[in-house]
Amino acid sequence: MTVVGQSSIDVAVIGAGPYGLSVAANIGASDRSIRIFGRPLQTWTDAMPAGMKLKSDGFASNLSAPAPGASLAEFCRDRGIPYHDTERPVSLETFVAYGLEFQRRFVPYLETADVQHVERSGDGFRLTVGEGQTLLARCVVLAVGVTHFRVMPKQLMGLPASLVSHSADCGRVDRFAGRNVAILGAGASAIDLAAALIDVGATTTIVARAGSIRFNSEPTGGRPTLLSRFTNPGTPLGPGWRSHFACNMPQMYRQLPDRLRLAILRRHLGPRSAWYLRDKVLSGANVLVAQHLEEAGLAGDHICLKLRDESGSLKSLEVEHVIAATGYWPQIERLHFLDRRLRQAIRHSAGVPILSQYFETSVAGLYATGLTAAGSFGPLMRFVAGADYAARRLSRHLEKARGSRHALVAGARVPQAIRS
Ligand SMILES: Cc1cc2nc3c(=O)[nH]c(=O)nc-3n(C[C@H](O)[C@H](O)[C@H](O)COP(=O)(O)OP(=O)(O)OC[C@H]3O[C@@H](n4cnc5c(N)ncnc54)[C@H](O)[C@@H]3O)c2cc1C
Repeated sequence: MTVVGQSSIDVAVIGAGPYGLSVAANIGASDRSIRIFGRPLQTWTDAMPAGMKLKSDGFASNLSAPAPGASLAEFCRDRGIPYHDTERPVSLETFVAYGLEFQRRFVPYLETADVQHVERSGDGFRLTVGEGQTLLARCVVLAVGVTHFRVMPKQLMGLPASLVSHSADCGRVDRFAGRNVAILGAGASAIDLAAALIDVGATTTIVARAGSIRFNSEPTGGRPTLLSRFTNPGTPLGPGWRSHFACNMPQMYRQLPDRLRLAILRRHLGPRSAWYLRDKVLSGANVLVAQHLEEAGLAGDHICLKLRDESGSLKSLEVEHVIAATGYWPQIERLHFLDRRLRQAIRHSAGVPILSQYFETSVAGLYATGLTAAGSFGPLMRFVAGADYAARRLSRHLEKARGSRHALVAGARVPQAIRS
C-alpha cells in the first residue's frame, strides 16, 4: 500500500456526477489543494435507460461553475443542438455530453478511480483509492449520488440476479429483447424503462401499487399569466408553491421537525412521468395498478409474482425477469465504503443523515451533498437543480474554514497522479 504525497490535501471530493463536479469546480476556483475521484457522470451513462429524456427542464439541468458561460443552454448553442429552457426535453445523450465537457473544462484533474474506504485519521481522513493507494485529506465531501441507495422490495431479496434487478442496473435493456419482463413501480424510472423495453420488443408489464400512472401535463407553449404565476409559480422542480419552498428555502426546510422533513422528502413530486411517454407506454405495456406484491418465488427458470389487489383477490404473474423501479432512499448505512465507526458516528434521523447549515455531518470535516443531503435540505437535493446551491454554499464555507484553520494545507490545486 502506498501513501500518495506525504502531506495531506485539503479536500477530497468523492463522486463525479453533477454535484461532485460542481463542488470541485467551485472549490477549485480558489487556490486550495483538492482531489476528486469517480467516473464522470457514471449514474447517467450506466444506470439510466439509453434514449431517455430528462424530466428536468433545460434551465433546471445546469451544473454549477465559478464562471459564466457554463450552462446547458450555452453548451447547446455552441454546438447547434436544439434547446429550449422549458419546451424541449433534453436528451440523456446531450446531458452526458454537457457534463463531460464541463468536467474537461472545470475539473480536468479528476481521477477516475473509485474510493474504496474512508476512515478517520487524526484530525482528518484516510482514503483508500483504486487498487489500494491511500491518501490523507483534511475534509471529505460525499457526492456519491443515488446508486448506493437502491431500494429493493424485501419480497425480491435473495432471488437470483439473472431474474431480478434494480432499475439502476438496467442502463442497457437490449438483453431483454423478446423477453417477458415485469417492472415494479409507477414513477419516472419505471415509465422510462417501460418505454425502453417496448422499443426493444420486450413484453412489458408494469405492476404499480398506486391506483393510476400519473403523467405531467404537456407544456402549452403559452406565457404564464399573472394569475397563474401567483397561484402556480414556476420553479426548477416544476410549478407550485411547495416546489417554490423547496427551491428557495432549503435552510428553512432544515429547521422543520425530523418526521415532517422526511415525510415531505418521500412525498414531494410523487411518482409522475413525462407526458410524451403516455401514449407509448399505455398502449405498449400491460399496466396492473393498485397491486400489492405479496411474494415472489422461482417457477422453473421464470419468476412468479403473487399480487393482491385492493379487493383482496390474489393473482399470479409469471415473467422471465423483474425490474424493481422502486427508487432510492439515503440511508447512511448503505455507504459501505465509509468505515463502520464513521457511519455510526454520523447523526441521523431514521438512518438519513442530519447535516449542518454548511452540509457538514456530525463528523467534523465530513460533508455530504446530493441525495445524501436531501434529508436536511429537501427535495431540491434530489435534482441537478440543487447542485448550484450546494456547491456555492459548501465552497464558501470551506474557504472560510480554511482561513480560520491555519492547519489546513495550502497546496497545489492540480494533484499529482496516484502512484501505485
Ligand atoms: C432514471 C433517473 C432519471 C433521472 N432524471 C433526472 C432528471 O431528469 N433531472 C434531474 O435533475 N435529476 C434526475 N435524476 C436524479 C439524478 O440522479 C440526480 O439529480 C443527479 O444524478 C444528482 O447528481 P449527483 O452528483 O448527486 O449523483 P450522481 O449523478 O449519481 O453521481 C454520483 C457519482 O458518484 C460516483 N461514486 C459513487 N460512489 C463512489 C465512490 N466510492 N468512489 C468514487 N466515485 C463514487 C458515481 O460513480 C457517480 O458518478 C434521475 C435519476 C434517475 C435514477
